[in-house]
Amino acid sequence: MPITTLRSILLLLAPLTLSIASASGSILPDDNKAPSRPNIIFIFADDHATQAIGAYGSVINETPHIDRLADEGVLFRNSFCGNSICAPSRATVLTGLHSASNGVLRNGNTFDGSQPTFPKRLNEAGYNTALIGKWHLAGDPTGFDHWRVLPGQGQYYNPDFRTPDGEVRIPGHVTELTTDLALEWLESGRDPEAPFLLMCQHKAPHRSWMPAPQDLGLFRDENIPEPPTLFDDYSGRSGPAGDQEMEIARHLSDHYDLKLDLPQDTSSLKGPDSWVEGMRARLSPEQLAAWDAAYAEENAAFLADPPTGDALVRWKYQRYLKNYLRCVAGVDRSVGRILAWLDEHPEIAANTMVVYSSDQGFYLGEHGWYDKRWMYEESLAMPLVVRWPGHAQAGSEVASLVQNIDYAPTFLEIAGVISEDPVHGQSLVPLLKGEKPADWRDAIYYRYAESRATHRVAAHVGVRTDRYKLMHFHEPEYDSWELYDLESDPLELNSVADDPAYADIRADLQLRLRELQAQYGETAD
Ligand code: CA
Repeated sequence: MPITTLRSILLLLAPLTLSIASASGSILPDDNKAPSRPNIIFIFADDHATQAIGAYGSVINETPHIDRLADEGVLFRNSFCGNSICAPSRATVLTGLHSASNGVLRNGNTFDGSQPTFPKRLNEAGYNTALIGKWHLAGDPTGFDHWRVLPGQGQYYNPDFRTPDGEVRIPGHVTELTTDLALEWLESGRDPEAPFLLMCQHKAPHRSWMPAPQDLGLFRDENIPEPPTLFDDYSGRSGPAGDQEMEIARHLSDHYDLKLDLPQDTSSLKGPDSWVEGMRARLSPEQLAAWDAAYAEENAAFLADPPTGDALVRWKYQRYLKNYLRCVAGVDRSVGRILAWLDEHPEIAANTMVVYSSDQGFYLGEHGWYDKRWMYEESLAMPLVVRWPGHAQAGSEVASLVQNIDYAPTFLEIAGVISEDPVHGQSLVPLLKGEKPADWRDAIYYRYAESRATHRVAAHVGVRTDRYKLMHFHEPEYDSWELYDLESDPLELNSVADDPAYADIRADLQLRLRELQAQYGETAD
């Protein structure tokens, strides 16, 4: 029997299988009515760290709407990416494959849109599919009935959206506009007779952290608590951590990142600072006036008495964090608007899985850093919160090791799609239901390959279990190993890779790393 025929038969059988499973579970469907396939709303932020989410224990901000999702759903405590940068994580989410297998190891790689993705398979199975917001994969999206995406990184103010009919510039702030377009499609753009997949993907809180006008005043008179490692000296590690360009102290740009006033003569501005005039030209006179007014007093005080040394680092930390958290506030409000729409449509809400996640984590001053890339915890972690009424236990947590390779098989399973596409991940459905399969993974694989690109983070590979993390910086100038016991050293300040007491653990993890590389068809280059 040809594979395509087999797939068609399995697709026909899928609703039957679902109704049998449901009949033995907590939901008893009407005998004459198989349960309709669940809708999926996937809300995906860019660079939103778990440290800035209330439900994950944030001490620096509040996210009431994401927290509500966690109260009504499942929060994954050990959720990780496989390659902590934007485009690779997005390609992995779509395909369920680690980077080498989906072809996007680096931000500059082109995503081959002809390969299988879960939106394509859902679309083929009758789902109405839409993608709104950040795409960040070269080429047009494939597998979507409807798409409105930001070109490249997109703009915070008055952004352009690419559509199948060309580009359109829409006045306003990108987070609000992305939400507006998503709600518009939910309300009147989709096929009301079909199950749907909506991917609502925000630019925020990605650099350059430009908050919406209504959020510019947040945190103004507050002092954001500092992480214990803001003044990290990088001792205790093998070398690369101290040899990068992502320190708050030394690498944030004065104007692009820190929003200090431009000098009269802008001809000598370099790097990101040389983009600020173009960014400002994009704002309407009213937006620009609100923007400048928001920073005027603090900027004047800075210029009148510029801080130095540690005080300057602390000033930069406050300025950076406040803008980042203001952008997060906009994303959280977007989650609230989408949940409010579902509240107004309870029948749809009851059959809709809502997912909140971000393409990777981020450094909010930990180790003195901003940005991501490393396999250290803050950028390795991906927030993952899932509400699935009638299936996932409200307010529960999952401690199992999960990764962005797991998203595609999860969505395929809940949609009842049987696919022969190769995937590296496992469906999260059992975990969502409170089960833990005996064969669930005991380790995750990681590979960062964008060596010597922006921020000069050395390429590395690694493996993480529930307690240990082994990292290998494999380029000739480093060729060094780091090993962390996350139980005794959760901040990852002292590598025990060369500690004889950990020799057996290191040997086991090195073997595990090689096994995972073989399993995923990966090599270190
Ligand atoms: Ca990102």
